[in-house]
Amino acid sequence: MKKMTAHLLLSLIPLAVNANQWFTESIYGNWCQTYKIDEVLYEEKTDFHHMIIFKNGLYGTVLALDGVIQTTEKDEFVYHEMITHVPMLQHGNAQKVLIIGGGDGGSLREVLKHKTVKKAVLIDIDTQVIELSKKYLPNHSQGAFNDPRAEIIIADGCKFVKETQEKFDVIICDTTDPIGAGKVLFTEEFYADCAKLLTKNGVFVNQNEVPYMCDTINRTCNKLKPFFSTVKGFLAPVPTYIGGYMAFGFATNNDIVTLQELEQRISNIDGELKYYTPEMHKASFALPNKLKQSLYNER
Ligand code: SAM
Repeated sequence: MKKMTAHLLLSLIPLAVNANQWFTESIYGNWCQTYKIDEVLYEEKTDFHHMIIFKNGLYGTVLALDGVIQTTEKDEFVYHEMITHVPMLQHGNAQKVLIIGGGDGGSLREVLKHKTVKKAVLIDIDTQVIELSKKYLPNHSQGAFNDPRAEIIIADGCKFVKETQEKFDVIICDTTDPIGAGKVLFTEEFYADCAKLLTKNGVFVNQNEVPYMCDTINRTCNKLKPFFSTVKGFLAPVPTYIGGYMAFGFATNNDIVTLQELEQRISNIDGELKYYTPEMHKASFALPNKLKQSLYNER
């Protein structure tokens, strides 16, 4: 989550880290959050990221890429339930789903809870994120990578959406922030390619950092508008993504689902929900006034 210069004590540390060391993420320049490292489970430079997985007494197992926390055992459910069930139940009968990024497997786990799903394609650029998440964060995927409906492709999501002939009912961009390998997934060209891959009532969703701290959601909405009749932002609190509620971009050419429809469609989900309810779905689209004005050009 979150961009900027990850200010990392860890880039200086050797593979074996002492129990008293701390991981500092300083993504907004003049401010940082720091996690106590109880134990480093894994650290390496992959082809695309500097990856570290460590244990923290409060957040459980934590995955960071390039000095930016991606996910933690404690609060991942908020992010993964909202990035998947909001578009899936907006659609109502999603059979083919594309996840771009999502290498920790949490979004795939939630997508596969939908009884309507026949195929879920996950495209991640970094095979190491998938393999090490399976090993050190098994509760994220809970076996989803082995589900017969899942197809895992190691590729750049931007290239994939340009070249594939397949169509999808829902596209979920569960990506790193708009820096490094993830930068191409926040461009107008990428959004145009995604729009072309969606079926008639298709829904697009992506993660957009924390709007109190940066304007990623504003830029995403502006870039999505040429391709969709409805472009919105929705919010959810994820403590790890520090600085306030985090934002998701949302786009469709269909009518927005009602609360009554959501209450019927929730039976599509087979499995436990810790955060998502139809009411939380609707409420998440309520925005603070300034953000609402800037996303929807309201005065
Ligand atoms: N929940 C996290 C967040 O909000 O920051 C995202 C976690 S998920 C681990 C992010 C994934 O995006 C990583 O596995 C990374 O490899 C993948 N990724 C980054 N750039 C990509 C690209 N161009 N194509 C496909 N996957 C990409």
